[in-house]
Amino acid sequence: MKINKKDMILIGGVLLLALIFWLIPFINQKKDSLQKEEQQGMLKITVDGKQYGTYSLSKDRTIEINDTNICEIKDGKVTMTEADCPDKLCIHQKAISTKGGTIVCLPNKVVLEIESSEKPDSITY
Ligand SMILES: [Zn+2]
Repeated sequence: MKINKKDMILIGGVLLLALIFWLIPFINQKKDSLQKEEQQGMLKITVDGKQYGTYSLSKDRTIEINDTNICEIKDGKVTMTEADCPDKLCIHQKAISTKGGTIVCLPNKVVLEIESSEKPDSITY
């Protein structure tokens, strides 16, 4: 059997294609992990219209807000665990996560909101 130049190019092309298809899952995996990183939002706490602080959702922690409220970050979810407001509505609000959401404590003017890293900070005071 004689392999001519045309066959060589064909074989080379097939091998190259195989290599590309073999590499695609690796490239996609890398992209996925990058996107995951981006989806990790930040918790922004606002008190009386002023920014109190921003906290990463990827780290579990408890945050005391001015002796009036305590919120907790756990497994990427944020809940209000304690509040001295009379209605306690904020404690009963659903946990917020990277998907977004807001928890508001009206009597104490405390707002917890998720700042997704996907959209730029466009809020100006
Ligand atoms: Zn409250």
